[in-house]
Amino acid sequence: MSECSHNCETCASKDSCANNYDKVNEKMSRIKNKIFVLSGKGGVGKSTVAALIAVSLAKEGFNVGLLDVDFHGPNQPTLFKVQNVRLGATEDNELEPLEIAGIKLVSIGLLLEDADQAVIWRGPAKMGVLKQLLEETAWGDLDYLICDFPPGTGDEILSGCQLIEGDKRAVIVTTPQELSLADCRKCIDFCKKAELPVAGVVENMSYFVCDNCDKKHYIFNNGGGRQMAEKYGLKLIATLPIDNKFLAQCDESNIAVALKNSPLFQKELESVTEL
Ligand code: ADP
Repeated sequence: MSECSHNCETCASKDSCANNYDKVNEKMSRIKNKIFVLSGKGGVGKSTVAALIAVSLAKEGFNVGLLDVDFHGPNQPTLFKVQNVRLGATEDNELEPLEIAGIKLVSIGLLLEDADQAVIWRGPAKMGVLKQLLEETAWGDLDYLICDFPPGTGDEILSGCQLIEGDKRAVIVTTPQELSLADCRKCIDFCKKAELPVAGVVENMSYFVCDNCDKKHYIFNNGGGRQMAEKYGLKLIATLPIDNKFLAQCDESNIAVALKNSPLFQKELESVTEL
């Protein structure tokens, strides 16, 4: 293999080179706001919140893309109930996002031959796929690209920071429980070190209101997300309850329908337009 000359302008391998970010930069320059949805821990509702932010913004008339970067557990197709759809190509041979609930959705789950297939990739392969999804998708002009990253501070988020140059912000999703908060503090530290500004915190599964009384039950502790936001001087974007009716609607129809039927979730997510 010939050694990299680092002279991209004259290099014959320019178009296929993994180090050439020209196309990514060109694509990303057409997207005003890039929002990275992160969580320290899995299972706290990060994918759910990423989808809710995307749908809420689209409802307000913004052009929104949602990129599912959780390669090993792509949940966005399931949340939108499109697991059996496969993405096609545009006339220009670019990847055509799925238009659903007013957003442009791209997920590795919509590209695999079999939805139950495991993705077994090491870091460099994941970086290559993320680069392809950014530069070879017909995103067009967007107001927001919401990126749903896997939990933690591993390869994908590091690659995202490297590939998407310039202005971008993170939203941290946590439950009020110390087990989640401890990992989210690491996420915040990562953002500081990667110079990724944090737009705010969403506290999910904050409380539960049962059918028999109007009392809020603080199952996973009370106010942990708010306290973490205060400690780091971050905005608390929303406080979402554990809502079994919302969950049932997600399972029965899809997350956009569930949001449409939940005035409380809509109200809590009102401030996403300020992201
Ligand atoms: P993560 O992306 O952090 O792994 P998910 O978004 O996949 O988490 O959510 C984990 C599970 O919790 C899913 O079954 C999801 O439907 C459910 N869930 C998330 N948020 C809520 C909520 N506010 N109320 C009820 N169920 C929720």
